[in-house]
This record gives sequence, C-alpha cells and structure tokens, in this order.
Amino acid sequence: MIFYGNWKLNKTTKEVMEFFDSFNNFVTAEKICFFVSPALIQTAVEKSKFPIGAQNICYADFGAYTGETSIVQALDLKCQSVLIGHSERRSKFFETDEVVNKKVVLCAPHTECVLCVGETKEQLNEKYQVLEKQLFTALLGIEKQSLQNVIIAYEPVWAIGTGLTPHVDEIRDTIDFIKAILKSKYDVKFKVLYGGSVNSKNVAEFKKIDNIDGFLVGGASLDAQSFEDLIKA
Ligand code: PEP
Repeated sequence: MIFYGNWKLNKTTKEVMEFFDSFNNFVTAEKICFFVSPALIQTAVEKSKFPIGAQNICYADFGAYTGETSIVQALDLKCQSVLIGHSERRSKFFETDEVVNKKVVLCAPHTECVLCVGETKEQLNEKYQVLEKQLFTALLGIEKQSLQNVIIAYEPVWAIGTGLTPHVDEIRDTIDFIKAILKSKYDVKFKVLYGGSVNSKNVAEFKKIDNIDGFLVGGASLDAQSFEDLIKA
C-alpha cells in the first residue's frame, strides 16, 4: 500500500533530521514518500532513507515567477514525486482547475504526480460532478504514457485537518467512481489514495476498503512514531 505524508508548512532543518534519525530505522515494504516544503527538500533528501516529494510546483518551468519552485529544480534536488492541486493550494492560493492542469501537463512526463481532488462541505450534494470536473480538467491534454505517472488523492476538503472522515462505504463508492470514469475516458487504471484526518486509530477500517491503494496523511505523518503506528495498524 501507499502511505504518503504531507508535512505542509511544518518543521525546521533540525526537526527533519530528528524525524529521520528515528523513522529511518523503520523497515517496511510499503510505498512511502514525504512531501516537504521547498526549504527542506535538500535536507530531507540527504537524510531520508525514503523518497521525498515537492508539495507544489510552478506552472512554468523557468523565468519571472518570483517565489516559485520549478519542476526542473525539484528533479535536480532528487524529488521523486510532486503534489498537485492540494485543497490548501486551491483555497488559499486561488489555484483553479486550469492552473492545476498546467502543472500536471508540465510534471507528469517527468515524474510521479499526486493529483488532489475533493469536494467542499457545500459541494457534498454535487460531489460526483465536482470530482469529474476537477479530474477531467486537470488531466486535459496529457498523453497516455504520462497519465501512468499520475496517482489520484481523493481528499474531501471538509475532512482535511478536521478529525471528520466520510463513512468507509462513501470512500469506497467515491474511489469506484473515480477509477471508473478515468478508465472509461483514458483506458488507464489509476491508483487512488484517500486523504483527510487519517490516523493510527481509524486507518485499520480504511485499509479494509477493497479498492483503496493507500493514503495521503497530513497531521499524523509529522511524528515518526505516529506515522509508523499508522502504517503498521
Ligand atoms: C492533507 O494535508 O493532505 C491531509 C490529508 O491532512 P490531514 O491528514 O491532517 O487531514
């Protein structure tokens, strides 16, 4: 299974070192990656036994984009994955589906992309239409070979960092829907992760969902022991 950690805007260099002093001793066959802030990528790559990813990437690959990080730089730093379209990027940095699409177009030919989609609380009644639009717009114009590099993270916005989660049946149905529409449109079998308030206590129930490929974990990935407990649960 896949267990990806999103550290958001957390940790100092010292804390990254301390985390991997502990977590590097964890022996597991599961697929793990940590998405860290640009300022910590180099430290994390040097220190971690596990792959490191970028939390965000500019929609352009170089030039006059002050404050941004490019896919060229992320690959140069040995990032092995990029997170695209996280709900915090969409809500706090006004990223539209079209901007998300530009980023996937730029990154997917070169590396794994974790494309985040999910409905807000207000959109719950139209969840499937919202997801379909987010997915089809984000993946517009991407060749089949590059699509194989894309993993979908289904993250209901109302579940991120709130302690709330959908019922397991709702997660199963939503993952079924995502896989089915993508298979029928692109003839590609996409992996789908669930994200939103997953922790070491509730993850065992979610692991039983037959079509789930893994998890994107925020808060519970920040502490080495709690992330290890979650993976082992
Ligand atoms: C996230 O940031 O993608 C996330 C799922 O956060 P949390 O696990 O804290 O809800």
